[in-house]
Amino acid sequence: MTDPIKFCNTCVMPSTRPGSIFKDGKCQACINYENRNLIFWVGRIHQLDDLIRRAKLECPTGPNCLVPVSGGKDSYYLVHKAIEIGLTPILLRVNDIFTMSHAGKHNLEAMPNEFCCDMIEHTINPYVYRSTIVKEFNEYGNFPYVDKTIYSIPVTYAEKYSIPIILYGENPMYEYGTAETESMYDCMEMTSKLLDYKPIRTTPIFMSYFYPWDGAENYKVARAHGFKTLEELDLWKRHGNIENYDQIDSIGWQFSNYLKFLKFGFGRVTDIASRWIRAGYMTREEAIEAVIAKDGQLDPRIWDDFSKSTGINPVKVLNIADKFRNKDLFTEIGDYDWERKYLPS
Ligand SMILES: [Zn+2]
Repeated sequence: MTDPIKFCNTCVMPSTRPGSIFKDGKCQACINYENRNLIFWVGRIHQLDDLIRRAKLECPTGPNCLVPVSGGKDSYYLVHKAIEIGLTPILLRVNDIFTMSHAGKHNLEAMPNEFCCDMIEHTINPYVYRSTIVKEFNEYGNFPYVDKTIYSIPVTYAEKYSIPIILYGENPMYEYGTAETESMYDCMEMTSKLLDYKPIRTTPIFMSYFYPWDGAENYKVARAHGFKTLEELDLWKRHGNIENYDQIDSIGWQFSNYLKFLKFGFGRVTDIASRWIRAGYMTREEAIEAVIAKDGQLDPRIWDDFSKSTGINPVKVLNIADKFRNKDLFTEIGDYDWERKYLPS
């Protein structure tokens, strides 16, 4: 019998990742990364120049580009880059119901000052937000509503204030390997799909289509603009992670990484280590070690904040989460204690 799960021979990504594509033992994310040097980047910059020129014509004085920000390192890079290429950004933060870390709060609040621009903070009715998340968590073992708001609310603002461009970070389909090709219209398609195919007048784009995406490089840019880490402002080294600067703003939201681990047998360490291997920051051997040592560990602070923010008691949170555990990928070794059946080697 063959294993129900295989691992990429270049990174540590398993085939259980939804929508993953494998060719000759290699995952599509690695293939796409290696194909970066075949891309005609100059042609894409021309496409971008054309967009910028039209945006400036449409909005000669006011902001001509809406950047949805979390306050994370990628937000910093995006705003920095938007200004560098001649756009006038306005920032939009969609608040969630979870607690913000001190670092997250600091980084977000510092952005308008650091980049000399306006920022809108949109808080969704907390009762609607909470009840939607609780319902989704109970029914599906995750909460896609958060992503939906991150793509839908910026469209509402951009259209209301006639802002021609919405600037997002990386194209997740292409960067993380569920698509073999990418186009300038991927972001438009994805957004429109999330909004039940509503026509969109503004143009949402992924920055990664125009400039090669590198999370570690974005971190350097963010640092140069005063970005702080969890270790610095929260004195917190998270379980189940190998860095302290990614997805640090919203504490309880990170519970979604644990839910992903239960369903698909891999967690945040696998994601980050795989990206580092592709970018040449880590060897595959080091990544395997990190995955075995840390992947899928649930940080008590994340668990606690998810419980408090949703109003579901902590034990019940774990019981609900466990209903969605893929039993084919784990072996039970004790009460509430499971082991991953398959690991990269
Ligand atoms: Zn790979």
